[in-house]
Amino acid sequence: MPLDIHPTAWHAASPEEALDGLAAAPGGLAEADAAERLRSHGPNSLPEAARRPAWRRLVAQFDNVLILVLLAAGVVTLLLGHWVDAGVIFGVVLINALIGFIQEGKAEKALDSIRTMLSPEAVVLRDGRRRRIKAVEVVPGDVVVIEPGDRIPADLRLLRARGLRVQEAALTGESLPVDKAAAPVAADTPLAERTSLAFAGTTAVQGHGEGVVVATGAATEIGRISQMLSTVETLDTPLLRQLAAFGRLLTGAILAVATLAFVIGVVGRGYSMAAMFLAAVGLAVAAIPEGLPAVVTITLAIGVKRMAGRNAIIRRLPAVETLGSVSVICSDKTGTLTRNEMTLAACALADGEVAVEGVGYGPEGTFRRDGAGLDDPMADPLLARLLVAGCVCADALVDQRDGRWTITGDPTEAALVVGAGKAGLAPETLRREHRRLDAIPFESEHAYMATLDADPDGGRPNIHVKGAPEVIFALCDREARANAADAPFDAAAWRARVESLSRRGMRVLALAERAGAPDELRLRQADFDGSLTLIGLVGLLDPPREETVAAVHRCLRAGVRVKMITGDHALTAAAIGERLGLPGAAGALTGREVDGLDDAALRTVVQEVDVFARATPEHKLRLVQALQADGSVVAMTGDGVNDAPALKRADVGVAMGVQGTDAAKEAAEMVLADDNFASIAAAVEEGRTVYDNIKKAILFILPTNGGQALTILAAIAAGMVLPITAVQILWVNMITAVTLALALAFEPAERTVMTRPPRRAAEPLLSGFLLWRVGFVSVLMLLAVFGLFVWEIRTQGTDLATARTAAVNMLVAVEILYLFSARYLTASALTAEGLFGSRPVLIAVALTIVAQAAFTYLPALNVLFGTAPLEPRHWLLIVCLAVPAFLAVEAEKALLRRRGG
Ligand code: ATP
Repeated sequence: MPLDIHPTAWHAASPEEALDGLAAAPGGLAEADAAERLRSHGPNSLPEAARRPAWRRLVAQFDNVLILVLLAAGVVTLLLGHWVDAGVIFGVVLINALIGFIQEGKAEKALDSIRTMLSPEAVVLRDGRRRRIKAVEVVPGDVVVIEPGDRIPADLRLLRARGLRVQEAALTGESLPVDKAAAPVAADTPLAERTSLAFAGTTAVQGHGEGVVVATGAATEIGRISQMLSTVETLDTPLLRQLAAFGRLLTGAILAVATLAFVIGVVGRGYSMAAMFLAAVGLAVAAIPEGLPAVVTITLAIGVKRMAGRNAIIRRLPAVETLGSVSVICSDKTGTLTRNEMTLAACALADGEVAVEGVGYGPEGTFRRDGAGLDDPMADPLLARLLVAGCVCADALVDQRDGRWTITGDPTEAALVVGAGKAGLAPETLRREHRRLDAIPFESEHAYMATLDADPDGGRPNIHVKGAPEVIFALCDREARANAADAPFDAAAWRARVESLSRRGMRVLALAERAGAPDELRLRQADFDGSLTLIGLVGLLDPPREETVAAVHRCLRAGVRVKMITGDHALTAAAIGERLGLPGAAGALTGREVDGLDDAALRTVVQEVDVFARATPEHKLRLVQALQADGSVVAMTGDGVNDAPALKRADVGVAMGVQGTDAAKEAAEMVLADDNFASIAAAVEEGRTVYDNIKKAILFILPTNGGQALTILAAIAAGMVLPITAVQILWVNMITAVTLALALAFEPAERTVMTRPPRRAAEPLLSGFLLWRVGFVSVLMLLAVFGLFVWEIRTQGTDLATARTAAVNMLVAVEILYLFSARYLTASALTAEGLFGSRPVLIAVALTIVAQAAFTYLPALNVLFGTAPLEPRHWLLIVCLAVPAFLAVEAEKALLRRRGG
């Protein structure tokens, strides 16, 4: 029986009425009920945004100067009566459009599949327990838990709200966050002022809350207007735009040269208009790299896939390129550089320090005071008080699943719960005895958490507070003593203890309490400001991840600086920074010190300092700006809702996939599936490789065009027939060049990718070096092709069709060998790895050889392309010319290597 939910003015109903109306309970639905509701209401997702229909994508392929030039050439060829040539030109235009169409579709699909890896999640109560589920599985009646940074998964009637503020711009256009509360509002309140509702698609920016789902999917407010919001991401990056601009420039230049050649040919050399027109078309077709855009798009898409394979999920395509030029990575510490597996290692008390031993989350480990093991830690009065407070003032859970101890919740808190377990305390029992009456949750901004807890002995409730030491110290007026009354708070002594623990790389928390608090049920800071008793400090160890030490080292070698930004104490941060091998770790700077610097001073400082401690999201933003002002290309990590501005501002914003909030993910260009710094380093490496491979593809394709164009110009200048016809050129450009160049998209990273400095962001794609190489190889191709053609025609008396067939095969033979050279920009290809190391290259070469055999010997293709079968002596000659051309390129590389040191 599907549940009958009457659409009500939920905002005017009380929370209880809302729960009743939805047949729901404050503790959430039962799993079985939720499954039933999912069946009857359907998934919580909006109908797919309408995609560009296929025919429009196909038509878009013709929206391209080059294609238009080809079509015009085809029409004129037709008018001149060259049926076959015109047919081939039209055929090629069609094939080109089809290839573009199919490849674009594939690339879009690849990006789509990656985007679904980022499906949003929600925390709901089911059977009274918190569960993290996919947002699409949320059903009406579910109770959703809202934390800062969460994207609201469905329309909710709030049951509870504490300081909850929601950014509703997506729905109402209002850019300022709106305060939310559980109290009902009048039934006729307009949408934007319904403060008792939280709407799907909006983002919580502050505070906490719980709400019951009143509508999902298309029934939500955003669902009703979703048609207006549907956006389809297009394949576009600065590089693609740069290439498109280059293509237009090239087309213009080629048209000019072709026209000039036409005039010179007709006026100066006495060719007929018709013959010269075909030559000019041939020239234009020869010089335009028809297959290049497809190759570049595919290389980018392959890069995105490879990055996803290394846990870096690209949300915006341009990031693939930008990653290759990143020169600074600013990274969070906890969980990104370190494991976020906090372990309680030491307790500092007024009467000395207690070391805690034992690894993992299990309750095994010993406590030692002055080197001697404590048989019963709970018999140590101060230690016992500290451990109880740490456990009561925490939400984390530790339990055993399949024989393994696991934690749920904040690892910092889990360390305290595990520590209490090691002393023999049972956290669940403890929390039942100290029943929580109210709490101020932890937030980085105020850096503490406070709870109001019932007294186990029936007295007035107690307040427990834990947090960053400086914050807690400011709230204390006394300190706890063993077996004695509390003493006045000795700030200097405690600061020395904080320093001692921090220097050892420990995260330090101070724990304090106020016994017998006022009997109110609502906790405010005023209830304990200046009236807390400090119990002691805990020191937590969170070692660097093994792989991050290596990754940091790789980044530094690659000229990418690494800056650590953390909320922890400066000494803790410096100690971890040193362990990670950051060169500027010793002089850690705190957020407060950053506040004291103006922008100019910060620009200088940020170049030297590698560790920023007690930093907030605002500091991150300033740091990004300061680094960018000096021309750095910055990648910045973040997880919280307040990190969004810094992520947006950074050249590559990187959000955490596991710990990160939805707000951070939406602001980021890239999301880390494993929250691991090493994945950023991997993405940088892939980004560099993608750029290299695109460069190699260009370097490979352009000389073919140059060689062909020069050959035709040479023939016109010499007053000869064309060595290659327009349709033959199209064959080479569309079939062989693309097949061969695609192999380069799969090239693995060169050995030097991570030992050379980052590419300058402003570096033009076609640098002087690239232009030189293109020109050099073009000339080699000219010499081989034109030389062979002239030799055949003038000295061997070969017929035109056969000579042309030989010329085309000559061109393709040089192309094939040059493909091996093009795998490395400067390194030698004359190695076993260089010649046989790439399967895609060998496959592409084999395919091309088969294609050339068909082109040469298949009667149907002979008719279409005006070719004729070759004899063995032609092949011998071709090989004898191709090998020296290949060796010439390798010699040029060797010279470059020697000059470059
Ligand atoms: P990083 O930037 O390295 O990821 P972070 O942003 O996680 O660090 P915060 O969580 O802001 O750092 O923690 C700052 C300080 O707040 C810590 O050094 C610790 O003293 C204190 N703190 C952290 N977690 C809690 C908690 N759950 N309850 C109370 N205090 C905490």
